[in-house]
Amino acid sequence: MSKKGAISKALAKKVYQPGRVVEVKDIEDTVKSPFFSPVQTRGQRKVNKTQLHKLVQPAKAPANCLKEQDDFKEMICNPGSSGKSRQLTDDKALVKDDTSKLNRSGNPEAKEMENSDKWEPKNWRLMLENIRAMRSATDAPVDTMGCHKCSDNEADEKTQRFQKLVALMLSSQTKDEITYEAMQRLKDNQMTPEIIVTMERSKLEELLKPVSFYKNKAKYLQLASQILIDKYSCDIPGTIKELEALPGVGPKMAHICMATAWNEVTGIGVDVHVHRITNRLMWLPKPTKQPEQTRVALESWLPQGLWQEVNHLLVGFGQTVCKAVRPHCVECLNREICPASEHKPGPKKNLIIDNCKNEIAPKKSKLKK
Ligand code: SF4
Repeated sequence: MSKKGAISKALAKKVYQPGRVVEVKDIEDTVKSPFFSPVQTRGQRKVNKTQLHKLVQPAKAPANCLKEQDDFKEMICNPGSSGKSRQLTDDKALVKDDTSKLNRSGNPEAKEMENSDKWEPKNWRLMLENIRAMRSATDAPVDTMGCHKCSDNEADEKTQRFQKLVALMLSSQTKDEITYEAMQRLKDNQMTPEIIVTMERSKLEELLKPVSFYKNKAKYLQLASQILIDKYSCDIPGTIKELEALPGVGPKMAHICMATAWNEVTGIGVDVHVHRITNRLMWLPKPTKQPEQTRVALESWLPQGLWQEVNHLLVGFGQTVCKAVRPHCVECLNREICPASEHKPGPKKNLIIDNCKNEIAPKKSKLKK
């Protein structure tokens, strides 16, 4: 038997005596720790296991605690009782009430907690908070010239809804500034479905210019206006299906229109910004090619209470920081956690060497003189 084996055997004999806990010669026994050491013998592990088992046994509650527990149970079953039990129940009710208040208020985080076993991207809450912080620090074009800002607040609700729909139709592939100015020109010409239908196509095109695809958009605008006159008494339809049936209206426009014109959130409006940024942040189970795929994937996990906000946040974020070309990763608060970050932290400076250099440099210059 090797020397090591002999020591182990002797130690095991000394340590492992069935029926009673004996002193264990191990580094962890000197600090009274029940945890296992890689150098323990089998006997030591068995002894420690017993100690650990004792430690994790639930402690018996003292008699007065048991009484409180009984009182508490009684209060739950019989809410007319008195004393300490009442206080305990009130505390419990307070907690319960807070939770239900959160749920009633439509708090997205609370709703999300209810359904926490579904897929969700890593760090998304932190990323969202960072985006909120960046968005509140700087105004984006969408904040002042987005489609929701293009309608005339003085006009009646029906007219405002029509104006919001037209602004959305013009906004596709067009900067907010351009859309906003075109809408001002249209409003100066008393835009209503009837006026748009009777207007010369060339004149309408002139009013829309330089909105992208202004010729097609002028044509769709006249066709859609005719449908609104014929089927909806010059109002806009109130369902996604009917909105999408209008010429020139896609899913993104339909969902944003439902939210802005009818105050009803039916889905996430995914434009180029939302599509690009959610792919960069890996907020989707797998990369998507089409905005419609992005919408479906995003809606599968993002709490519904955030659907409207996320469009507005990400559009402005895409206009100011996370641009399509050369995103400003250096100034982005998500630069350390974003999978697509182009920010490369420079090598850490060795302060000791730098300090030495600073001290040596003047001396060298003195020597040269
Ligand atoms: S780190 Fe860069 S790519 Fe990532 S969210 Fe920020 S700006 Fe966009």
